[in-house]
Amino acid sequence: MTSGAPEKRRLTILGSTGSIGTNTLDVIDQLGGRDAFEIAAVTGNGNIGLLAAQATATGAELAVTASEGQYENLKSALAGTGIEVAAGRSGLIEAAERDADWVMAAIVGTAGLAPTLAAARRGADIALANKECLVSAGDLFVRAVAEGGGRLIPVDSEHSAIFQSLEDDQRHAVERIVLTASGGPFRTWSREQMAGVTAEVARAHPNWSMGLKISIGSASMFNKGLEMIEAKHLFDVAPSQIEVVVHPQSIIHSMVGYTDGSVIAQLGCPDMRTAIGYALTYPMRTKLNVDRLDFAKLARLDFEAPDEVRFPALRLARTAMERGGLQGAIMNAAEEVAFHAFVSGRIGFLDMADIAEVVMDRMTDVAPAASMDDVFAADGEARARAAEAVAEKEKAAGAAA
Ligand code: NDP
Repeated sequence: MTSGAPEKRRLTILGSTGSIGTNTLDVIDQLGGRDAFEIAAVTGNGNIGLLAAQATATGAELAVTASEGQYENLKSALAGTGIEVAAGRSGLIEAAERDADWVMAAIVGTAGLAPTLAAARRGADIALANKECLVSAGDLFVRAVAEGGGRLIPVDSEHSAIFQSLEDDQRHAVERIVLTASGGPFRTWSREQMAGVTAEVARAHPNWSMGLKISIGSASMFNKGLEMIEAKHLFDVAPSQIEVVVHPQSIIHSMVGYTDGSVIAQLGCPDMRTAIGYALTYPMRTKLNVDRLDFAKLARLDFEAPDEVRFPALRLARTAMERGGLQGAIMNAAEEVAFHAFVSGRIGFLDMADIAEVVMDRMTDVAPAASMDDVFAADGEARARAAEAVAEKEKAAGAAA
């Protein structure tokens, strides 16, 4: 005999301790928490205290730290709770493979690729925040989702906006996709001004509260570059159909232009919980406790053309799309290495784009990926070459000092 209680949806949050992860748990709470959902697994990396608290509060079955060295700490933090504990790459895969209907992919960087792919292959619906999956593995990732039979629902606010503005039966009439960009904290700065900025200054985003990598990526517009490549794969459009427009208020989250001249946009206050909630309840909308737009207060919306000279990441993304093959994976890996070198003070802000460009140019002869192994190989080679380029930059800066 059944109890008659509705079945709870089972969810897993990869990267639960990050900015998207904590917002996801807030949305889950708003939508009924443990009464409405079961949490199969939560994962983090270094923030063991928060991970243990999340696992306990949600009653997760499994908690995983990506860091092998943190296994004992997580285990003792969860002692006596009955929550299973795992660590490392295999632990992340175990979390992704746990039976859950919906998986939030919110690990930062290429580290998210293997677990997200594992979840996609077993047919889970993927709420995709980790754009690196599409930037690096593109068609292979899309195919894995299709073969698994789950849905791919974008969480990046721009891609969620496009997803919401796309009319399913009118795909043939899509002329262009217009990604909006806030322009970040350096929207009006010259290259000379940007040359000397520290990571502390670069991470201060004017509108959005986000993790460190995406905040720096918004300042350099690398994030927008990666989003252009993400859009190409998600919506199966040609590079020439993807436009970027700077919109400093971040109210229009992106738009779709149709062949009849209509443009359909999605608007909202800059709050990732709207896109996360949409991905969680799709195709239904739900009630969320987020700020509402007040149009009279807003008064105006501004738009500017992006400047690819001050922000070369946009040009590099276009180059990567035009060259095709593994150039997205190469650009992404080189940028990750350059980002870490920048935040640790080894190179300057503008060096990040130089390094990505050098590595992309040195790897134009890499064959397109036939399998994920090819993606990981190109990623590894690009990282090694980017590390060399970082060392060259440091040497040049040392000689000039
Ligand atoms: P955060 O840096 O805030 O969080 C990243 C998460 O990944 C944390 O749970 C972190 O664990 C974990 N993590 C870090 N390194 C590793 C690793 N090597 N292996 C496994 N897990 C790791 O990032 P965000 O939440 O800002 O971003 C997550 C993803 O979502 C990115 O791909 C980003 O581009 C995308 N995104 C983010 C948006 C935002 O508003 N933040 C908007 C749109 C997209 P711990 O904290 O425990 O170290």
